[in-house]
Amino acid sequence: MTDFNKTRSQFHMPEGVVYLDGNSLGPLPVSAKARVSAMIADEWGEMLIKGWNGAGWMKQPRSVGDRIARLIGAEKDTVVMGDTLSLKVHQALASALELKPARRVVLSDNGNFPSDLYIAQGLLKSLDRGYVLKVVDPEEVEDAIDDQVAVLMLTEVDYRTGRLHDMKALTAKAHAKGAITVWDLAHSAGALPVDLAGAGADFAVGCTYKYLNGGPGSPAFIYVAPQHLETTRPTLSGWLGHEAPFEFDLEYRPGAGIDRMRVGTPPIIALAALDAALDAWDGVEMEDVRKRSMELTDLFIAEIEKRCPSLVLNSPRDAMKRGSQVSFRHAQGYAIMQALIARGVIGDFRAPDSIRFGFTPLYIGEAEVMAAVAMIEKVLNERLWDAPAYLKKAEVT
Ligand SMILES: *Cc1c(COP(=O)(O)O)cnc(C)c1O
Repeated sequence: MTDFNKTRSQFHMPEGVVYLDGNSLGPLPVSAKARVSAMIADEWGEMLIKGWNGAGWMKQPRSVGDRIARLIGAEKDTVVMGDTLSLKVHQALASALELKPARRVVLSDNGNFPSDLYIAQGLLKSLDRGYVLKVVDPEEVEDAIDDQVAVLMLTEVDYRTGRLHDMKALTAKAHAKGAITVWDLAHSAGALPVDLAGAGADFAVGCTYKYLNGGPGSPAFIYVAPQHLETTRPTLSGWLGHEAPFEFDLEYRPGAGIDRMRVGTPPIIALAALDAALDAWDGVEMEDVRKRSMELTDLFIAEIEKRCPSLVLNSPRDAMKRGSQVSFRHAQGYAIMQALIARGVIGDFRAPDSIRFGFTPLYIGEAEVMAAVAMIEKVLNERLWDAPAYLKKAEVT
């Protein structure tokens, strides 16, 4: 059994804050502060360039990748860290397309995060071979998978509504029609059990600053299924994905296995923070996290619907069909969220009218859910959102 009192003690939470935005940026793991300071002082400071070998810096994209592999049901040696998620989407999609050279359709849905769609648009345009990005409603994805589709590219959990795709069923259908799958786990990794190997997923990508608490801009991960590891051509063929980077050969040769998906110099300070953040997952079972998360989101929905009737549920009602976040709609959603944040209840706003709350059992329990509901009720009943300062939009919402 996972000890959630123990995991809670591993995070720093500012006084007076109810944090329901760990789905966007996880809080600071206490150990990350010390680990980063030690890395800077003892490794960078004292070892200088000797740290690449002496402190194992060069291996970290793989060793940290192996720790994440456990949380997403990936086989050993199939996950590597680096770059941002948007770049990893590019890498995965480009490699996936090459596995289906005769096909021209990339299928996605309009619940996907815009960056994934923008990356696909940019890549398909520069390939200039008549590729089409077909974007359908999430409910229509299954029927739209046909024998024209080269790549099915989906985000498992919808960033706005929390709607959860059936990865196993959609992957099976894609394979039956001869397509390759690219799954984005941005709102899945650390939020719910993921079984990449069991689902037979081909490629997967995800970020680590959301549910994995790696800190702002922490490196992303990419997964390549074992059967594709030695045939995948990395399109971002940087020197650290080369078979022998320090031979400084002028011709690119892909590295062995997942190493070929590395691109350039890894961000060692950020990896130190992420590695420390992953300590919080030692002894944590994803099944326990999922059970708690479903209880917390069910409680939140029931209490809000009872006490705040002007909010309209914008997430699946069935906990099995959503991830670990819940959103509600209200015409004044932006101002309501600003009023909540000013009072210590932190969620976020997603255009056009959703207020979104993430539930992260590692450090959130029933007391936080009830405190948040009480504040939301107060902000609505007393129209506390109706103030000029809350109506002006900030750069990051
Ligand atoms: C958060 C998120 C991103 C962000 O990509 P970055 O390159 O890390 O900024 C991309 N895709 C999805 C599905 C996300 O949820």
